[in-house]
Amino acid sequence: MEKILAGIETRLIHAGKPEPPIEGAVVTPIFQSSTFEYLGQQSYHDLHYIRLNNTPNHLGLHRKLAAIEGAEAALVTASGMAAISTALLTILGHGDHLLCQSCIYGGTHGLLTTEFPRLGVEVSFIDAGEPATWKEKLRENTRAIYVETISNPLLEVGDLRAVTEFAREQGLISIIDNTFATPINFRPAELGFDLSLHSGTKYLNGHSDIVAGAVIGGHELVARISHTANHLGGALDPHACFLLDRGLKTLAVRVRYQNESALRIARFLEQHPKVEAVYYPGLESHRDHLRACELLDGFGGVLSFEVAGGLAAAERVIDRVTIPVSAPSLGGVESLITRPVTTSHSGMTAAQLAAAGISETLIRLSVGLEATDDLIADLDRALESP
Ligand SMILES: *Cc1c(COP(=O)(O)O)cnc(C)c1O
Repeated sequence: MEKILAGIETRLIHAGKPEPPIEGAVVTPIFQSSTFEYLGQQSYHDLHYIRLNNTPNHLGLHRKLAAIEGAEAALVTASGMAAISTALLTILGHGDHLLCQSCIYGGTHGLLTTEFPRLGVEVSFIDAGEPATWKEKLRENTRAIYVETISNPLLEVGDLRAVTEFAREQGLISIIDNTFATPINFRPAELGFDLSLHSGTKYLNGHSDIVAGAVIGGHELVARISHTANHLGGALDPHACFLLDRGLKTLAVRVRYQNESALRIARFLEQHPKVEAVYYPGLESHRDHLRACELLDGFGGVLSFEVAGGLAAAERVIDRVTIPVSAPSLGGVESLITRPVTTSHSGMTAAQLAAAGISETLIRLSVGLEATDDLIADLDRALESP
């Protein structure tokens, strides 16, 4: 009989596995082989070779990732930026134009503003929460619209439903970076997005020990992006495939715990006299709270906040916490704390930061899997100390 794979928790563990299991192994072994015997394939793209992302470790992950987002197909890549750049270079060419949410991941922003102009690809930035303003930015040569489910570092949630409707009306490809939400909190295909992108480095793997990326969408688009990936070469190593697959198995329990823990910490910070502002979409005070409630199944594990006392006070808090590690990145089992202007958003100019509302003193916390009470006690001590 066929396996029942209705729930995302079951799919995270069982979807995509080779059937029957190889030599009976409960866990798919690592195929550490760059090349595979020729089996009469007609096309170069069908030969089995690690750079073509089609060894058994890749193919199992592709099936699993598609299954957990309810999409047709998926592709893993060497990093989140490899997923983003390969997807965009497939969809956009010389003379094309992209509409893009203004506050996006620093690396993506850098790609669009420093590499793309050289290639003749133009970008206009939009406020993802103001659909009425999009049409005036639309051009004859606009091909796609690009957003993030939950933006970094202010955790804004754009009008995602309007994005898919606008894309359908205008004949654009709708693309979303779903890294911060994860498939536990949001599955883009259900809302009609054409393409979902991930930094697998973050929640999907969840253990801060690999860099990886994923592209998830319809058969035809993912096949086109796979062909580009074969030429650009950003393949995921089989050992990293194995670790990503292992990390994915616990995604649901990790992310649900992080959702709960981050909400409790956000509430604690919000009432703390030394804290001036907290940004977390699960808080009633967040500008996009109602939209987040409507669109998401959970609010994620990242929050950001401002403390009284300026830059020195912000640096003091980061120095004095003992559990969160001061490091960039997010989505792992250990809590990480950082000032985005020094890490993820360091490539933006002062004017760009000001326009995005990101202050120099903003602190971002990626909540890990430690005891929530310990994290709260640690933050409390760091905030209280003179
Ligand atoms: C980290 C990150 C990326 C880039 O991913 P890498 O795996 O570091 O290449 C892209 N988008 C978002 C939202 C991220 O947080």
